[in-house]
Amino acid sequence: MSARSAAQRSPAAANEDGSVSAPSRSITTQAGTDARTAAASVVDPEIRVITIDELGILRAVEEDPATGRVTVTITPTYTGCPAMDVIRADIRRALAVAGHPEAEIRTVFSPPWSTDWISAEGRAKLAAAGIAPPAPVTPAAGVVALTLAVRCPQCGSPETEQVSRFGSTACKALWRCRSCSEPFDHLKAL
Ligand SMILES: [Zn+2]
Repeated sequence: MSARSAAQRSPAAANEDGSVSAPSRSITTQAGTDARTAAASVVDPEIRVITIDELGILRAVEEDPATGRVTVTITPTYTGCPAMDVIRADIRRALAVAGHPEAEIRTVFSPPWSTDWISAEGRAKLAAAGIAPPAPVTPAAGVVALTLAVRCPQCGSPETEQVSRFGSTACKALWRCRSCSEPFDHLKAL
C-alpha cells in the first residue's frame, strides 16, 4: 500500500504513444451503465418472460470514451429467427429512451449462439413460465444430451413425449406430459 501507486494511476484508455485506442470495452460512465441496463432489459419477443441478457443474445455493450457513442453487440439465436428484427428495434427504442438515440447495433455470428448461454436465472424463468428449458449442450455429450428426458414444467415428471417438432414458434417444440397430460413448449437445445 503506497500513496505513490495511487497517484500514478492513469486512465486505462490512454495510450503511452498518444495513438488512438479502439473503443473501450468497458463501461466507464453513468450514461454507459444506463445504456447497458436499458439494453439488458429488452425481453425476447417470443418468450416474453426472459430478457436478451438472460438468453445470452446480448454479447456486449460498449461505449466509445471519446464520443460517448454506444455500440451494442448481439448474436442471433436460431438461424432465421424473425425475432431478431424485433429485438434490434426494441434495443434501439430502449437505448433512445435511455438517452442513446445514436447507438449502433452490431450482429456477430461467431461464436454461434448456444442454448448453453442461457443463464441459470433465465432457465428458472422459462420453467416458471411453463417452458421446459433446453438440456445442456456440451461438445463431449452433445449426442447424449438429445436423449435426456425433458421434464414436464408443470409437474416435473420425466414421462414426456414430443407431439410436434414445432411449437408456438420455430424455436420451440411441442411436448406433452404423460403424467399430467399437459402440453408444454420445450425450448430446443442448440
Ligand atoms: Zn406433467
